[in-house]
This record gives sequence, structure tokens and C-alpha cells, in this order.
Amino acid sequence: MTQFSEFTDLCIKIESIPGSLEMTDVFAEFLKSVDDDELAVSCYMVMGEIFPAWTGKKLGLGPNLLYSALSKAAGISLDKIKALLRETGDVGETTYKALCEDKKSQSTFSSFFEAEDKSSDDSSDGNSDGSRGLCNSGGRLSIREVYDRLKEIADASGKGAQSQKIKSLQYLFSESSPIESKYIARIALEELRIGIGEGIVRDSIAKAFDVPVAQVEFAFMVTNDLGEVAVAAKKGGSDALVHQNIQVGRPVKMMLAQVTTGIETAFAELDEAAIEWKFDGARLQIHKSGSDIQLFTRRLENVTNSMPDVVKAVTEAVTAENAVLDGEAVAIDENGNPRPFQDILRRFRRKYDVETTSRDIPIHVNLFDLLYADGVSYIEKPLTERRAKLSEIVKPNAKGISVDELKITKDPETANEMYQAALAAGHEGIMIKNPNSPYSPGKRGKNWLKKKPVMDTLDLVVIGGEWGSGKRKNKIGSYVLACYDNIKNVNLEIGRVGTGLSDELLDTLTEQFKDLIEAENGVMLKIKPEVVFEIAFEEIQKSPNYPAGYALRFPRLVRVREDKTIEEIDTIEKIDRMYQGQKE
Ligand code: ATP
Repeated sequence: MTQFSEFTDLCIKIESIPGSLEMTDVFAEFLKSVDDDELAVSCYMVMGEIFPAWTGKKLGLGPNLLYSALSKAAGISLDKIKALLRETGDVGETTYKALCEDKKSQSTFSSFFEAEDKSSDDSSDGNSDGSRGLCNSGGRLSIREVYDRLKEIADASGKGAQSQKIKSLQYLFSESSPIESKYIARIALEELRIGIGEGIVRDSIAKAFDVPVAQVEFAFMVTNDLGEVAVAAKKGGSDALVHQNIQVGRPVKMMLAQVTTGIETAFAELDEAAIEWKFDGARLQIHKSGSDIQLFTRRLENVTNSMPDVVKAVTEAVTAENAVLDGEAVAIDENGNPRPFQDILRRFRRKYDVETTSRDIPIHVNLFDLLYADGVSYIEKPLTERRAKLSEIVKPNAKGISVDELKITKDPETANEMYQAALAAGHEGIMIKNPNSPYSPGKRGKNWLKKKPVMDTLDLVVIGGEWGSGKRKNKIGSYVLACYDNIKNVNLEIGRVGTGLSDELLDTLTEQFKDLIEAENGVMLKIKPEVVFEIAFEEIQKSPNYPAGYALRFPRLVRVREDKTIEEIDTIEKIDRMYQGQKE
């Protein structure tokens, strides 16, 4: 049995390692040391997750709930917790300090800081000088117990759920040492971020159980569950990995596209291209198992219950007994023209009066790919073969669903004609795909290129905000934005947006962000990174004022990307590329 203190030591060690190779070695050793039933849990938790990717589920705990539990466990007031938060700016450090104070029984808050200042200010180094030893000594919980409690917290719903969650967290804090609690708090708020993501976990599994990385990658693509892959690799080695298959009912990550600057440029790289319209809607993955139809969004949320019309359309149109299909759901008006993007999101979100809403906002699904049909996985087969099978299993002229048109051509002019036609029909542009490419779940590469007329926007996460004044009093009037540094695994601030926000939207956003406020300092707010904004701008400028090293000129909110998770925000690498492209 592995103690949570051992997992804490692992986190501390990994945080001090700069390179991914060494991280892989360290985590591989850890995987070798844990029991079979701790393998999956270790893989999820090291990435700061509780659930495997395919569930689309998050812990979803609000910061205030955690602070209440912490205040109870540490026996200090909420105000003191908030003061600590202002001081540290970090939930993990705050938890550590609050609980250390409890352990050291300091009489006053300020004397605690004085004592802290005299000692080293690195709280996570495992030193054992006097009080710090007490703060860092091991608690009583195993990794499994912590995991099970956190899962219980995530699953609690209905009446009394809030107080149940607080009690469970309080229990975790009381049974763990402050240093362990620091990591528990970070996991609970989905902010572990020690630098380990899916790539390193994948490589560590390969290393720990001596199997090829490519096989681990394949198994991950089809199962979408690294915990399950780790167990398969340990128990069945290569043989078990290559026999993993897509499971109908379990969503697979969607393949994504890269921007191309021009049709000609795209053709320069692809001798022959498969051209499709880029529909203006939202991604939908459809799973059919006999009469059971399940629908998943790009975030892998199950939206089946909100879309009875789509379920009906799939039932009538898809002839395969079992299938996994990929497409774009577009909200349409009475003439079949696309309606605004927000309308399709309204359909996804709808829980009541679903039938009425589906009459008010009809949907047409444009299918463009096939991942699985009647026992056969198609993801490794070329696009042309996938499309041929797709056309075979979907009836033509069905109501509400169709296979989109695809033209294979060597001629950029044909692509250009399709581009103009797509725009004239109110869609976004075209997709230029490599006809010989496989379906790569979760990957954004050159095999799918998108061409749109507008300058590319950026998807950024909101990490902070500022209370407004005057007309915007009591509203969060501007939002601090960040992109993602995929090497250092941190969010990098790149500026603020306060334009493009109607009064109505400001009200909605303020309400939405209320539960995500982690700390307040005067008018400034630290916000739990969870909401993605799509931002338009005039230009990217170099700027020493922001950690990203860039600033956006005239940023404007285009829309809230409710269909995107924070794992999908744009990276600093992309912004570097855009900046270079802009100069050229
Ligand atoms: P954008 O903001 O430009 O829509 P994105 O960041 O949402 O892009 P990308 O992966 O960059 O997503 O672009 C591909 C998206 O375009 C898909 O996720 C899908 O929702 C949509 N799409 C529309 N038509 C097609 C098509 N024919 N083939 C693939 N994707 C399509």
C-alpha cells in the first residue's frame, strides 16, 4: 500500500526537475513501486485529475468551499485564510501555511509570519527543522484513500452535498500533514500543475513496463484512459496494448486542425488534398450501439438527453449496427442556413423543455469522419477509406443528418471555389485534409488544415479580473487572460480584455465567475482557470509587461468558448509563430 506521503514526495521531487526525461524516469520508478490497484489512480492524480479523460468529468470544486473546509480544519477564520491567500497568491501555499499555523499553535497571525520569515522561505523542501518537521511529517492516509475521498466529493450531488463536501475535505486536511494537504488542495481545485501531462505519463508507462511508447500511445488513443493503459501494460505487456480497441459509448478525443495561411501554401505541402466545408457549428461525436445512441461534445460531455432530434436522425440514417462517427452539429434556420454559434451551445446545455427547444432551434449534423464501424476500428485507415465506409453506412437524403461533400483535388482553384461557396452559405471556410492520413485522436497537425477569412483569434483562459467602477460597479469589468506554456506547464498572462462585453454579458459573466474567485486583493481578483475566451485583436506586440512576453493590441471578446476546456487554450508556441508570421 502506498502512503499519500510518498505521492507528496514524488510531487516535490518532480517540481524540482526541469527536464521531461528525468521526470519520466522518476514517475516510471514510482509506477513500478505501487500496487496494481494504485496504478490507475497514480496516473490520474499526477496529472492533477481524478477521472480518466474519456469521462469528460472534472472535480468541479469551488474555491470558497475549499476555504471553508480549510478554515474548519485549521481552526482559523475565513478572513485569515483570505489574508493568507493575498499573501501567497496560491491555494497550495495557503493551505500549507494555514495548517502549519494550526500545528504550531501560534497565538497570532502576524507572529506566525514573523516566525516564517525567520526560517527558510521554501516551504516545500521537506526540511525538518523544528516546527517545519511537524508541518512536513507524514499523515495517516494512503494514496487510495485520498483518491476515493476526492472522488466522493466530485460525485456528491443534491441536498446536503455542499456540507458533505466540506466535511470530506476537512477530514482529508485533518488526517494529512500540512505538506500533504498542500497537494490535496491543489488537486481539489484542479491546480496541481507539477509539470506532468499526458505525454510524460505515456512515456513513463512505457519505461516502467518495458513496452514501446507507440503502443502505449495507440492504446491511449483508443481507450482515452491512461490509468487503464498502465494496468494493461503492466498485466499484459505489448500484447494487451495492441489489442485495445475503441469502445462504443466511450468518447475518443477529437482530431484537430492547424491554421493555414493560404490555399496555395497548403497545396505546396500536399500533392493532392481532400477539401470539405468548415461548418460553423459545434463538434459532435456520435456513438451507436444498436438502438442506443450517445452524443458527445468536443469536451467529451454527454449531451444525448438534450438532443432527441439528433438521436432520432441517427437512428433513422445510420445503417451500421455499431459505429462511432464524427461531425459538426449546426443550428439552422427555416431555410437551412447556419444560426449563431451560441444557439448550438444553447441546445447542448438545455436540460428542460428539450422538445420545444429542438423545435425552436433545429439542428443539422454534417458527418465528416468515421472512427469505428461494426467491430472494425478505422482510425488507422486513410481518410479516403474512412469516408468511403462512412458514405456506405449513412443513408443519403436523411432528415437532419448527412455526410458532407468531399472533393479530392490537386487543383487549388477547385479548393478556392469550395471556399467561396462555403462562405456564401454562411460557413467558416474550408478544411484541407491529407487524403492518406489516419485519424489521430486529440492531435492538431498538418493532416487537417483550416482556411478561414478572418485573422486567427486566440483562445485564452481567464486567470483574473478586476471589479469595475461607475456603470460597471459590482461587476467584473475586465478579465486577465493567459496562454499556455506547454514546456513549463504553466499559464502565462498575456493581457486583459474589457471590450466586447455588453451589460448583459457582464452580468452573466460576473455571476459565472463568482464561484471561481480564488483570492481578492483590493479590486483585483485571482480566478480559477476554467473559462476560455476567444479573443480577437489587431496585432501581437512584444511586451516586457506580461509573463508571456507579448501583449495583444485592441483585444476584444468574440465569444466564451464553452465547448473548450482549458487544456485546449492556445500555447505560447502558437503565439510565437503568429508573431513571426505577422512580421513576415
Ligand atoms: P475554430 O475556432 O477555427 O473553430 P477550433 O479551435 O474550434 O477552431 P480546430 O480544431 O482548430 O478547432 O478546427 C477544427 C474544428 O472545425 C473542428 O473541431 C470542428 O468543430 C470544426 N469543423 C467544421 N467542419 C469541419 C470539417 N469538415 N472537418 C473537420 N472539422 C470541422
